[in-house]
Amino acid sequence: MDKEFLKKCEKRLLEEKAKILGRYREKEEIQERLGEESREPRDLEDIGQITYTEELLDNLSQVEMQTIREIEYALEKINKGIYGMCEGCGEQIPEARLCAIPWTRYCAKCAEEMEKETGTYMPSYGVTDMFNIDDIKVERDDIGEA
Ligand SMILES: [Zn+2]
Repeated sequence: MDKEFLKKCEKRLLEEKAKILGRYREKEEIQERLGEESREPRDLEDIGQITYTEELLDNLSQVEMQTIREIEYALEKINKGIYGMCEGCGEQIPEARLCAIPWTRYCAKCAEEMEKETGTYMPSYGVTDMFNIDDIKVERDDIGEA
Protein backbone atom coordinates (compact mmCIF):
# COMPACT_ATOMS: atom_id res chain seq x y z
CA MET A 1 0.00 0.00 0.00
CA ASP A 2 1.07 3.52 -0.82
CA LYS A 3 3.08 5.03 2.07
CA GLU A 4 1.48 8.45 1.70
CA PHE A 5 -1.96 6.95 1.98
CA LEU A 6 -0.96 4.88 4.99
CA LYS A 7 0.32 8.02 6.69
CA LYS A 8 -2.96 9.75 5.96
CA CYS A 9 -4.94 6.88 7.46
CA GLU A 10 -2.72 6.82 10.52
CA LYS A 11 -3.20 10.53 10.99
CA ARG A 12 -6.96 10.18 10.68
CA LEU A 13 -7.01 7.33 13.19
CA LEU A 14 -5.03 9.36 15.69
CA GLU A 15 -7.23 12.40 15.12
CA GLU A 16 -10.39 10.37 15.56
CA LYS A 17 -9.03 8.85 18.75
CA ALA A 18 -8.16 12.28 20.11
CA LYS A 19 -11.62 13.53 19.20
CA ILE A 20 -13.36 10.69 21.00
CA LEU A 21 -11.14 11.06 24.04
CA GLY A 22 -11.92 14.76 24.06
CA ARG A 23 -15.64 14.12 23.93
CA TYR A 24 -15.27 11.44 26.55
CA ARG A 25 -13.59 13.85 28.90
CA GLU A 26 -16.37 16.38 28.29
CA LYS A 27 -18.90 13.72 29.11
CA GLU A 28 -17.16 12.85 32.31
CA GLU A 29 -17.41 16.46 33.31
CA ILE A 30 -21.12 16.49 32.53
CA GLN A 31 -21.54 13.28 34.46
CA GLU A 32 -19.77 14.78 37.42
CA ARG A 33 -22.02 17.80 37.29
CA LEU A 34 -25.10 15.60 36.98
CA GLY A 35 -23.89 13.65 39.97
CA GLU A 36 -23.80 16.82 42.00
CA GLU A 37 -27.21 17.92 40.78
CA SER A 38 -28.82 14.60 41.53
CA ARG A 39 -27.77 14.93 45.13
CA GLU A 40 -30.18 17.82 45.46
CA PRO A 41 -33.04 17.12 43.06
CA ARG A 42 -35.66 19.78 42.69
CA ASP A 43 -38.62 17.71 41.58
CA LEU A 44 -39.53 14.38 40.03
CA GLU A 45 -39.26 15.66 36.47
CA ASP A 46 -35.68 16.69 37.13
CA ILE A 47 -34.82 13.28 38.49
CA GLY A 48 -36.23 11.61 35.38
CA GLN A 49 -34.26 13.90 33.13
CA ILE A 50 -31.04 13.28 35.00
CA THR A 51 -31.44 9.50 34.92
CA TYR A 52 -32.16 9.58 31.20
CA THR A 53 -29.12 11.71 30.45
CA GLU A 54 -26.88 9.54 32.59
CA GLU A 55 -28.01 6.43 30.75
CA LEU A 56 -27.46 8.09 27.42
CA LEU A 57 -23.97 9.19 28.38
CA ASP A 58 -23.15 5.76 29.69
CA ASN A 59 -24.23 4.12 26.44
CA LEU A 60 -22.31 6.52 24.27
CA SER A 61 -19.15 6.03 26.26
CA GLN A 62 -19.29 2.30 25.77
CA VAL A 63 -19.63 2.63 22.01
CA GLU A 64 -16.89 5.19 21.86
CA MET A 65 -14.53 3.17 23.99
CA GLN A 66 -15.15 0.32 21.59
CA THR A 67 -14.33 2.55 18.65
CA ILE A 68 -11.11 3.55 20.36
CA ARG A 69 -10.21 -0.11 20.71
CA GLU A 70 -10.86 -0.58 16.99
CA ILE A 71 -8.71 2.44 16.23
CA GLU A 72 -5.88 1.09 18.35
CA TYR A 73 -6.22 -2.25 16.63
CA ALA A 74 -5.96 -0.52 13.24
CA LEU A 75 -2.89 1.41 14.38
CA GLU A 76 -1.29 -1.83 15.44
CA LYS A 77 -2.00 -3.24 12.00
CA ILE A 78 -0.26 -0.26 10.45
CA ASN A 79 2.78 -1.02 12.62
CA LYS A 80 2.75 -4.63 11.58
CA GLY A 81 2.35 -3.72 7.92
CA ILE A 82 -0.94 -5.56 7.50
CA TYR A 83 -3.23 -2.54 7.51
CA GLY A 84 -5.90 -2.34 4.81
CA MET A 85 -6.26 -6.07 4.34
CA CYS A 86 -9.78 -7.45 4.72
CA GLU A 87 -9.93 -9.91 7.60
CA GLY A 88 -12.73 -11.76 5.86
CA CYS A 89 -11.38 -12.47 2.40
CA GLY A 90 -7.78 -11.22 2.61
CA GLU A 91 -8.29 -8.77 -0.25
CA GLN A 92 -7.08 -5.20 -0.20
CA ILE A 93 -9.81 -2.91 1.15
CA PRO A 94 -10.46 -0.09 -1.36
CA GLU A 95 -8.85 3.20 -0.36
CA ALA A 96 -12.17 5.05 -0.56
CA ARG A 97 -13.54 2.79 2.13
CA LEU A 98 -10.46 3.16 4.31
CA CYS A 99 -10.74 6.93 3.99
CA ALA A 100 -14.31 6.83 5.23
CA ILE A 101 -13.79 4.27 7.99
CA PRO A 102 -10.06 4.03 8.61
CA TRP A 103 -10.51 1.47 11.39
CA THR A 104 -12.62 -0.92 9.33
CA ARG A 105 -11.43 -4.52 9.28
CA TYR A 106 -13.45 -5.66 6.30
CA CYS A 107 -14.11 -4.78 2.70
CA ALA A 108 -17.64 -3.63 1.85
CA LYS A 109 -18.68 -7.09 0.71
CA CYS A 110 -17.49 -8.92 3.81
CA ALA A 111 -18.84 -6.17 6.04
CA GLU A 112 -22.23 -6.58 4.42
CA GLU A 113 -22.22 -10.32 4.99
CA MET A 114 -21.10 -9.74 8.55
CA GLU A 115 -23.95 -7.29 8.97
CA LYS A 116 -26.48 -9.83 7.74
CA GLU A 117 -25.14 -12.36 10.18
CA THR A 118 -24.74 -10.27 13.28
CA GLY A 119 -26.86 -7.18 12.65
CA THR A 120 -23.83 -4.94 12.63
CA TYR A 121 -21.26 -4.11 10.01
CA MET A 122 -18.47 -3.55 12.49
CA PRO A 123 -17.73 -6.70 14.41
CA SER A 124 -15.69 -6.11 17.51
CA TYR A 125 -14.76 -7.77 20.71
CA GLY A 126 -18.08 -9.26 21.76
CA VAL A 127 -19.98 -5.99 21.89
CA THR A 128 -21.26 -6.13 18.35
CA ASP A 129 -24.79 -5.02 19.17
CA MET A 130 -23.39 -1.68 20.27
CA PHE A 131 -22.71 -0.71 16.71
CA ASN A 132 -26.16 -0.26 15.29
CA ILE A 133 -25.54 3.41 15.00
CA ASP A 134 -27.13 5.33 12.19
CA ASP A 135 -24.31 7.71 11.40
CA ILE A 136 -21.82 4.91 10.85
CA LYS A 137 -24.21 3.23 8.43
CA VAL A 138 -24.59 6.47 6.50
CA GLU A 139 -20.84 6.54 6.00
CA ARG A 140 -20.87 3.05 4.67
CA ASP A 141 -23.69 3.79 2.28
CA ASP A 142 -21.73 6.71 0.91
CA ILE A 143 -18.98 4.38 -0.12
CA GLY A 144 -21.33 1.95 -1.83
CA GLU A 145 -19.99 -1.20 -3.39
CA ALA A 146 -16.47 0.06 -3.88
ZN1 LIG B 1 -13.47 -8.99 2.33
